[in-house]
Amino acid sequence: MDIFSKIAAGEIPSYKCAENEEFYAFLDINPLVKGHTLVIPRREVDYIFDMEDDEIARYQVFAKKVAAAIKTAYPCVKVAEVVLGLEVPHAHIHLIPMQSEADVDFRRAKLQLPQEEMQQIADRIYAEFVK
Ligand code: AMP
Repeated sequence: MDIFSKIAAGEIPSYKCAENEEFYAFLDINPLVKGHTLVIPRREVDYIFDMEDDEIARYQVFAKKVAAAIKTAYPCVKVAEVVLGLEVPHAHIHLIPMQSEADVDFRRAKLQLPQEEMQQIADRIYAEFVK
């Protein structure tokens, strides 16, 4: 099992932001900005465009709901949706609340936030998601 499958299964801890039976959202451990969230399918699939049409459609609808929760919890101009990276071989969408395009520059230094603050951020997003 890859690391993100283990996270979705609860075998590795994460800061949960949202979930349903098929998808899971949690804070990126090295966020670009507060509220930077990863959205993953629970099932193991590496490349997002290997997903079937109906699955990728449900994935986007779930990501849309998570983005709405992030935007309410962390008011921003828009929530950016980014798919990139080869680090983890499990499909993941980055959702990043942005005030400007500079917030989505992956070459920037990442934030290191205390555990309590990460938990507070995740709880805030989760509370909006389940409303
Ligand atoms: P990339 O494949 O380039 O999109 O990078 C994977 C992303 O996952 C990076 O932004 C990492 O900070 C993030 N990441 C890796 N491991 C974890 C983890 N255990 N919990 C949360 N985020 C993680």
